[in-house]
Formats: sequence, structure tokens, C-alpha cells
Amino acid sequence: MSVFDHKEFDDHEHVAFFNDKASGLQAIIAVHNTNLGPSLGGCRMWAYQNSDEALNDVLRLSRGMTYKAAMADLKLGGGKSVIIGNPRKDKSAEKMRAMGQFVDSLGGKYITAEDSGIAVADIQLMAENTAYVGGVEAKYRYDGGPADGNPAPSTAYGVFVGLEASVRHKFGSDLRGVRVAIQGLGHVGYRLAEHLHQQGAKLYVTDIFPESLEKASQNLGANVVAPDEIFALDVDVFSPCALGAAVNTSSLMQLKAGVIAGAANNQLAEEAYGEILRDKGILYAPDYVINAGGVIDIYHQRMLSTADAMRAHIEKIGDTLEQIFVRSESDRLATNLVANKMAEERFNR
Ligand code: NAD
Repeated sequence: MSVFDHKEFDDHEHVAFFNDKASGLQAIIAVHNTNLGPSLGGCRMWAYQNSDEALNDVLRLSRGMTYKAAMADLKLGGGKSVIIGNPRKDKSAEKMRAMGQFVDSLGGKYITAEDSGIAVADIQLMAENTAYVGGVEAKYRYDGGPADGNPAPSTAYGVFVGLEASVRHKFGSDLRGVRVAIQGLGHVGYRLAEHLHQQGAKLYVTDIFPESLEKASQNLGANVVAPDEIFALDVDVFSPCALGAAVNTSSLMQLKAGVIAGAANNQLAEEAYGEILRDKGILYAPDYVINAGGVIDIYHQRMLSTADAMRAHIEKIGDTLEQIFVRSESDRLATNLVANKMAEERFNR
């Protein structure tokens, strides 16, 4: 296993490996870039087959966080950490405390938070040994309501604001009567559906579990469709809020929507599909720009901030997307590639 000539190595500033014999913790932290501020990124626990797979993940994900933070106008850089092990079988309080020591050893260059396999309770154990944690103490909620530490309401609000900006750009209209197909009614997707319903959008929804579908049908008047029917619907907006790679060779052939704007990470199965969407006249809101509400939330929870400041910051997602769309047209470049360029201009400045 090599680091400097690894295919995912991208001039990362710091890659640290940690082996705590007493607890059995094996973990890696990657700090990609700190030009804009200390790096922030979740800690993922996963049953990686080997340490190379873990290294691959941490290098790739930490780089993505640099781009996300830059486009969200945060004074943060990009980092990520991974713990090697099955979160259901291999997790222990000792390992989480040891992870806190590991995070602390970087002296604030990396701030950790939740990710797959790591819950708030795990971060609280890490916090016994380090102050460099986010997402444990919730003081504010973007709408002034009681904060519970779940970033999904902020993410959903950001996606809503971004979807509204995308519709305005593409169709020159507000959301009244706009037909939106939402794939995945989980923590983010259901809340997004509520916002859209309030603004008069017509909803089409799918999920692999029925509970939230019934709720959306009853409370929001949503039309429920089967998971494989969501792509080909005659709608204005397709909103991927389930897993990655919703835009793939199969869905590209079926999509009729004029806008793609959703919460899921890594929506394009290949970066090159951005140009295909542009050729087809489909306006794509780059995933890491539109879904940044959660990371903006974590940032404000750590600062001496207010609910109003958090909300205003999330609402900037709409302006940022508009800048991307305008530049995509003037530079004749796909929106995902424009976003990458703009992020690089910001963090390389
Ligand atoms: P979630 O797990 O609560 O919801 C995902 C939903 O998608 C679930 O209800 C699941 O049943 C459904 N689903 C899975 N496969 C499906 C399929 N093939 N067809 C239809 N539905 C399917 O997750 P979430 O927190 O709502 O996040 C949604 C997406 O947004 C994820 O990709 C996540 O990485 C991304 N995201 C979330 C946040 C956040 O704050 N929660 C922040 C940034 C990005």
C-alpha cells in the first residue's frame, strides 16, 4: 500500500494512521486542504476488506469535503476519518475514546463529526478526549425551533432553496404547479417534500419502504410510484434523495425532467455525465453544493452563532447555484465541472 502515488492521492496535506493496541482501534485520518480553515469531515466506520480500501475511501472523501466547504462559503477545509471494523460488531467505547485521542493528536487541524456507522453517542465518547468534534451539541435550528442535533432539517431546507433557484433559472417560475419527482423519502427527502408541498408543487414520490409513502400520500397529496418508475415520469424536476449514482446510463435514457436537484451524494455515476445532461438541456444542481445545509449547520453549532445567521447562510446555496448556472452557460461547461473550478479558485486562492 502506498500513499503518495495512490490514485486518490491529491496533494493531501496530512495522512495519519493510528493503531491502538489496547482497544484494537485501527483508523486513518486524511486532511486534504486547510487553506480556508481547519478541516471538517465525518468519521466513517466500515467493515473494509483491507486497509487499502479504507485508505481509498478516506483520501477520496476528504478531498470532496474541501470542495464542499469551499462552495458553502465556510472557513473550513476538507478532511475525513475512517475506522476499520464492522460498526455493528466491532464497536466499543474504548475504541471511540481512542479515536478521540487520535483526532486530538492533530491539534485541531481536523474536526470530526458523524458519518456512516458513527452516531452522536460515539462522537460524545470521542469528545471525552478532544474538543475537535462537531455535531454533538445542538444550540440552534435554522427555523428557530428546538435543536436536536440532526442536520437533516438544514440539509432539506438547503435542497429546497436550491431546487427553487434551479426552477427559477430553468423555467423562470416559482414552485406553484411545478411537478417534482422525489426518489427516497428518508430524513431529508420527506422534509423536502413538506417544503415543496407548502409552496404548491405537485409531488411524485417513491421509496423502497412503504411507511413514509403512505404519510406523503395522505398529508401532502403526493402520487406514489414504484422505485423503477420514478425516472421516466413526465415531470419538471427529478430530485434524487436516496443513494448515489441515480444519474446512470439507464436513467439518462429515461429522464424527462428539465432540472435535477436533490440531496443524494455522488448523484452522477460518472463525472462525464454532467456534459451529457448539459447537451440534453437538463439543468443539474451539483450535489455537493445543493446538499451543504448539513455541514453549514455543524459549522454554526460550533461557532458563537444564531439561528438567523444559520438560516441566511443556508439560503446562500440558491445564490451560489445561480452563479454556477450563469457561468456554465458563458463557459459552455457542465455545471458539475464549473462547481469544481469555482471551488478550486476559492481554496487555492
Ligand atoms: P435516509 O437513509 O434517511 O433516506 C434515504 C431513503 O432512500 C430511505 O427512506 C430509503 O428507504 C430510500 N431508498 C433507498 N434506496 C432506494 C431506492 N432504490 N429507491 C427509492 N428509495 C430508496 O438518508 P437521508 O439522511 O435522508 O439522506 C438522503 C441522501 O442525502 C443520502 O444520499 C445522503 O448521503 C445525502 N445527504 C444527507 C445529508 C443529511 O443531513 N442527512 C446531508 C448531505 C447529504
